[in-house]
Amino acid sequence: MERGATVKAITVPALGGPENLVLDDLAEPEAGPGELLVDVTAAGVNYVDIYHRRGLYDATLPFIPGQEGAGTVSKVGEGVEGFRIGDRVGWTDVRGSYAERHAIPADRAVPIPDGLDSRTVAAVLLQGLTAHYLATDTFPLRQGDKCLIHAGAGGVGLLLTQIAKMLGAEVFTTVGSAEKAELSREAGSDHVIVYTQTDFKDEVEETAGPKPLDVVYDGVGNDTFMSGLDLLRPRGMMVTFGNASGAAPEIAPLLLSQKGSLFLTRPTMAHYLQTRDELMSRCSDLFSWVQSGEVEVRIGHEYPLANAADAHRALEGRQTTGKVLLLP
Ligand code: NDP
Repeated sequence: MERGATVKAITVPALGGPENLVLDDLAEPEAGPGELLVDVTAAGVNYVDIYHRRGLYDATLPFIPGQEGAGTVSKVGEGVEGFRIGDRVGWTDVRGSYAERHAIPADRAVPIPDGLDSRTVAAVLLQGLTAHYLATDTFPLRQGDKCLIHAGAGGVGLLLTQIAKMLGAEVFTTVGSAEKAELSREAGSDHVIVYTQTDFKDEVEETAGPKPLDVVYDGVGNDTFMSGLDLLRPRGMMVTFGNASGAAPEIAPLLLSQKGSLFLTRPTMAHYLQTRDELMSRCSDLFSWVQSGEVEVRIGHEYPLANAADAHRALEGRQTTGKVLLLP
């Protein structure tokens, strides 16, 4: 682009609802030292973008939302080695992806293997790496472990279910509708519970007896956290990793003792992607599972960049399944 050129991007000038996602013309970003300028093919929409927009997670105004995307390198900043113009790359945990062009640190750029299309990579990085670290590190699932995954037809939910099955776990999932139940079953869930119609704690106990679970992976938060604690076996683990229904309530450590010497953790992805080696090693697993067909990436919804507000309304309105993408 020529000097003075602009790019379209979504900005958030004030915290609040989806109407605060505004399409803007901004000066084209520079590829600074150590950075790559990327033409964005697709930007991933994630629940974390909603937390930033609402102000639940810190964000300095105004900002361009979006933690994930994939595209083609158009400029290479000073000091960058190993990348060239025309390379396809993906990224996650780098804010500012809801834009036609985005400058990303080269050490966060993940080369896209031949045979994987850029949209799939934009769709799988953030939620797939989350599912990877939850199932392999936070509570490493082993053959026969019983786990409960809330929001089983969501972005993380469908991927985590498939990975948990690959690792040999027995999987319980909760979902908000009959249509979502079908998708969760197709992803491999052994026991699907429509928790908007029935009490999930009763349902799990009816199937597997009292306190049967080794681990609960809970991205729903407020509405499900307390009942989940009651389903864990002694020394089981509650992994509360999200707040789709609001943040999980505060509890006293003593409660964990009373409920069975439980382990409680509240992980976030940055702490499981601390080095480039860690990022690349998790991506290598994830891409090989996707390329072999062991993990299917379901892109449920694609919106033009300008309609980011509609994408947010759908995600927070529980209208989506699998991945939501924005296409600049
Ligand atoms: P999803 O695609 O799973 O969408 C959220 C889902 O949550 C909805 O579809 C809905 O499914 C369910 N839900 C339950 N109650 C509510 C409610 N009151 N309002 C809205 N949704 C509700 O989103 P993501 O895959 O992007 O994220 C899932 C969770 O994982 C989020 O909490 C997110 O913050 C967290 N996360 C955490 C990460 C970490 O490292 N800690 C990284 C990535 C995601 P249903 O209708 O079936 O109930």
